[in-house]
Amino acid sequence: MADDKCLFCKIINAEQPAEIIFENEQLIVFKDIFPKAPVHLLVVPKKHIASMNEASEEDSELITHLMLQLPSIAKANGIGDGYRTILNTGSKGGQIIFHLHFHLLGGGSGTLPGF
Ligand code: 5GP
Ligand code: ZN
Repeated sequence: MADDKCLFCKIINAEQPAEIIFENEQLIVFKDIFPKAPVHLLVVPKKHIASMNEASEEDSELITHLMLQLPSIAKANGIGDGYRTILNTGSKGGQIIFHLHFHLLGGGSGTLPGF
């Protein structure tokens, strides 16, 4: 199931270091290495799905689980009162790592979008 050339699969398999915040059977959460906000986490399914364009009906429970975990992950990291969730799809959509992930950003003093 893992793609051995995929950076996030390597993090999931502990072959590549990351600041891991939380994990369960289905997902892992770690800090973005180049944070764009005071809190910038990546919420990543353990199953390798390249992007939303490759997700299928059989992934619906997994993706729903990920999304429903966002409030508690945000709360546990001090941004439960407001955060931004970003999902980039395809290089034209700003995606650099082709393993599906949600960005969870927050913690700035001002209002969005500038953090
Ligand atoms: P994308 O543009 O694909 O939606 O987001 C990929 C994110 O992964 C970027 O925000 C980038 O900073 C982050 N990233 C790239 N390489 C690494 C890495 O080796 N470790 C971690 N923790 N994050 C990374
Ligand atoms: Zn992967």
